[in-house]
Amino acid sequence: MTRTVYLNGEYLPETEAHVSIFDRGFVMGDGVYEVTSVLQGKLLDFDGHCLRLNRSLGELGMKNPLSREAWLEIHRKLVELNGIDEGMVYLQVTRGNPGDRDFAYPPEGTPQTVVLFTQAKPGLADNPQARQGIRVISIPDLRWARRDIKTVQLLYPSMAKMEAKHRGVDDAWFTEDGFVTEGTSNNTYIVKGGKIITRPLSQDILHGITRASLLRYAAEAQMQIEERPFTIAEAQAADEAFFTSASAFVMPVIEVDGVTLGSGRPGPVATRLRELYLEESLKSAI
Ligand code: PMP
Repeated sequence: MTRTVYLNGEYLPETEAHVSIFDRGFVMGDGVYEVTSVLQGKLLDFDGHCLRLNRSLGELGMKNPLSREAWLEIHRKLVELNGIDEGMVYLQVTRGNPGDRDFAYPPEGTPQTVVLFTQAKPGLADNPQARQGIRVISIPDLRWARRDIKTVQLLYPSMAKMEAKHRGVDDAWFTEDGFVTEGTSNNTYIVKGGKIITRPLSQDILHGITRASLLRYAAEAQMQIEERPFTIAEAQAADEAFFTSASAFVMPVIEVDGVTLGSGRPGPVATRLRELYLEESLKSAI
């Protein structure tokens, strides 16, 4: 099926949506993005993603081209036009097309490029990987130092995911100065003695929208949370580990650098948190 996508105010078949070769997103990686999950045809954590988009744009000196209401309308229309029941909406905003390649930002008033498309992902909620758990390796975090901005510069995370694949595991966790920063495309957690431990927010990691919602739900459920960095050795000695992202929700991790955690099965805390996240985020889905 040919998808209908959104490009700069128009809904088009994906084969007819074209962006300039001079687009700043293409030649400079000068753009930001968001991914919002869809379950039961509804958007999860939409307002969180919208706020983070605004923040990413602001940090890069770009304006937000659309209002919350306009973003919502486009998301909903694409979900409807493409018949998405489970899947996601990807959105990207770049600094636009200055008509040539130049390091300097384009002149004020150059239209930004706005792209949105959907991806159908049947089985997103009932994901077999969540029942089995994920195996990860650690890789040095060689990304730039503003990981709190959700830019389209995803080469290093792609390299790390490929390295994980070549080494026969599912994903990688980044480490810096002896501590885990985050996963290639997710925020990371360990569980020790019932306590959920996760790195605090800073410029070192992306401020995950799933993380924010999950920690709120966990606190409301009287679960103990400690925000501090942890090491790979601590993860290997933990009772459980897991990660969060908009598309994986809460994903149990059962092996870190070849060491099996606990029983080698997804643990009770990660399993409960996954249920809690799905239940609670569906309540507020729009
Ligand atoms: N960290 C990184 C590096 C990511 O790419 C992502 C997902 N885009 C996350 C964390 C998780 O963020 P979210 O829960 O908002 O998807």
